[in-house]
Amino acid sequence: MSFFEAHDPEFSTYVLGNAPVKQLATGFDWVEGPVWFGDANCLLFSDIPNNRIMRWTPGEGVSIYREPSNYSNGHTRDLQGRLISCEHGTRRVTRTEYDGSITVIAERFEGKRLNSPNDVVVKSDGSIWFTDPHYGIMTNYEGYKSEQELPCHVYRVDPTSFSIAAVVIDMDCPNGLAFSPDETSLYVADTGAMFKEDADRHIRKYDVENDTLKNGANFHTVSPGASDGLRIDSDGNIWSSAADGVHCISPAGKLLGKILVPELVSNVCFGGRAKHQLFITATTSLYAITLNRQGVQSP
Ligand code: MG
Repeated sequence: MSFFEAHDPEFSTYVLGNAPVKQLATGFDWVEGPVWFGDANCLLFSDIPNNRIMRWTPGEGVSIYREPSNYSNGHTRDLQGRLISCEHGTRRVTRTEYDGSITVIAERFEGKRLNSPNDVVVKSDGSIWFTDPHYGIMTNYEGYKSEQELPCHVYRVDPTSFSIAAVVIDMDCPNGLAFSPDETSLYVADTGAMFKEDADRHIRKYDVENDTLKNGANFHTVSPGASDGLRIDSDGNIWSSAADGVHCISPAGKLLGKILVPELVSNVCFGGRAKHQLFITATTSLYAITLNRQGVQSP
């Protein structure tokens, strides 16, 4: 069987013909939020409905990293390597300090509770950018069913003052997000309002101007499915989740090819010795594939 589907000849140079899509672990309910810790030689990822963060270590397999996890979803690391987590259950973004204590980064905007922070990235100036759709409070599956107090925005947390600014206010349900390698662009996936059949589902691209975003425009629509999570390689290609696997999209917005995965994919992240492995969270399982590409996401 082939693990790939090329839509452009360029894509064949990104993949390795003898590198499989490998299932590393299974038996979860809905996995998300992969983040690589090269210094600890492990990957952390969320098993959201089971309220835990899992750890996968090469040669050892999976173990529980944190339980309960406050129904954590997306993760990243800051410039100091600390874990940054989006938590549905507590409707906040947190940082895990070196001693294990938890610092709250964001939980309210203009006095109102956030919805259910979903995914997060850190810019090279230390600012923390996260999306806040309503998925974690619409039902009791991935958190606690509750009232929505705010629209679904994208926020930026200032690295020194910790002040929070809404930087995207015109999307249905912003979800995955990633900066281009030079940080002049921010890609934000919109997965659409829950229970709304004709919802907008596309990746939008914004120009980054200082601490704000300008000129938001639809960049690419993933099909089948939607872009839930996405990461960028060193040439600026976008690797996005989709219903049939992982789609590789050029900086011009063209679908270059697909990695075919047998389960609905939620998110991806680069890791491994040379950031050349793509870890894939997909419904009940964690997968990985080695690519002829390198990721750029922090750190
Ligand atoms: Mg997500």
